[in-house]
Amino acid sequence: MMAGEQRPADDMRAPLAADICQAGRLLIEKRLVAGTWGNVSARAAQNQMSITPSGRPYESLSEQEICCVSLDDGRQTAGRLAPSSEAPLHRAIYCARPDVGAIVHTHSLYASACAVARKSVPPVIEDLIQLAGGEICVAAYALPGTDALAEAAVAALGDRQAVLLANHGAVACGETLREALMIAEVLEKAAQIYILAEQLGGAFALSAADVQIMRDFYVARYRQRQKG
Ligand SMILES: [Zn+2]
Repeated sequence: MMAGEQRPADDMRAPLAADICQAGRLLIEKRLVAGTWGNVSARAAQNQMSITPSGRPYESLSEQEICCVSLDDGRQTAGRLAPSSEAPLHRAIYCARPDVGAIVHTHSLYASACAVARKSVPPVIEDLIQLAGGEICVAAYALPGTDALAEAAVAALGDRQAVLLANHGAVACGETLREALMIAEVLEKAAQIYILAEQLGGAFALSAADVQIMRDFYVARYRQRQKG
């Protein structure tokens, strides 16, 4: 091993890797991505993230194929395959948001439709408000895999738990992988409800005050209960 080179972080990667593989398979099962699109990561020890590799089908993804990337400099620290090309996006969110422990990036149908129309998902449905904190905004367009996309996503994410990527897809951020997956699923449902309500004559958004009350309740009470 060369001087200054980090030892492969297989030991710390192992427990997260199993959960990441399972989350990837759930993305396919729940039709939130197709093929090898989308990606999943979790914050790991020693300021690193574990993340799915580039271009591997989730159905046959093994724990050994999960990559580790340093949040300090973006360098790969473990794993034989290249990390997802959206690793800069995941890294930028972990650096900007210490409260985020896991990220799920999807190409789900209705969230992507909003991202293509470049329309935020307004706070129209209570479960998404509780889980994600209100309006889900669309980040300015940038090419996939670029630092520009990572910067735009962080800016549009703000202090909420999800963001849409213009003409691309959605990103859900949770304390845990389980929460990030739930947010991805509920965001997709909320985007569908929003589009349907618009066809019925228009969706009504809830007030900022009501949004805040619901979000506070979830963070203080419900999220704690789910951990138990
Ligand atoms: Zn993508």
